[in-house]
Amino acid sequence: MSKAAVLPVGIITTLIAASGLLVTASPAMAATPNLQLPFPCGQQWRLDTWGHAPALDMVKEPDQQGTEGATLIAPAAGTVNKSFYHSNAGNVIQINHGGGYFTTYLHLESRAVSVGAKVQMGSRIGKVGKTGPTSNGHPHLHFELGYDADGDGEASWGFAGSERVKPTFAGVAYGGANEQTWRNVTSHNCSVGASGHDFNGDGRADVIARNATTKDLHLYLGNGTGGFQSGTGDR
Ligand SMILES: [Zn+2]
Repeated sequence: MSKAAVLPVGIITTLIAASGLLVTASPAMAATPNLQLPFPCGQQWRLDTWGHAPALDMVKEPDQQGTEGATLIAPAAGTVNKSFYHSNAGNVIQINHGGGYFTTYLHLESRAVSVGAKVQMGSRIGKVGKTGPTSNGHPHLHFELGYDADGDGEASWGFAGSERVKPTFAGVAYGGANEQTWRNVTSHNCSVGASGHDFNGDGRADVIARNATTKDLHLYLGNGTGGFQSGTGDR
């Protein structure tokens, strides 16, 4: 982002007036998307930055068993921007989440979506694998959140200095520095899919029902594991 973008509005206005030129400031960065971990509700995964923060490598807890072939699901709604085989990174998917934000997935065993497909949070998009030589033959998900800072319609990925940025899962930021590890990170990607709607945006499916006697509508907030949050019902 250019320095001009962080100047106070008054200063930018002054510069435009003084120069007589049309100045296009970079758009302010939108808030990072409300992502959930890209694995089914309740699963626990280990996240490591190794030497490539803010990119994350993910393996399944407690012992990495089940990483290979694990179901990969969308961390938020979006449109598939890339789905292809890359000679170094193997099977790659990139999803456009809007607002300039993209998520990118490397080394997949298989890809279940094509370019242009619309996905919802929780939609199945592929399987975790070890494709591409940079996986070093070790099953893991290499995950990146990218911000399209140069406005070319995609987020560059896979190298230091690319457009990758720190991701947030369930409101917690990860990927801030190299050599960081987070153990037993639980997926709250519990929403929606075919069975329900997430009315309050917390990534968990909710139910709206009408009381048969009073005819009142009630919102029941889901707890993400098939039940309801305590105290929920009259909202
Ligand atoms: Zn990696």
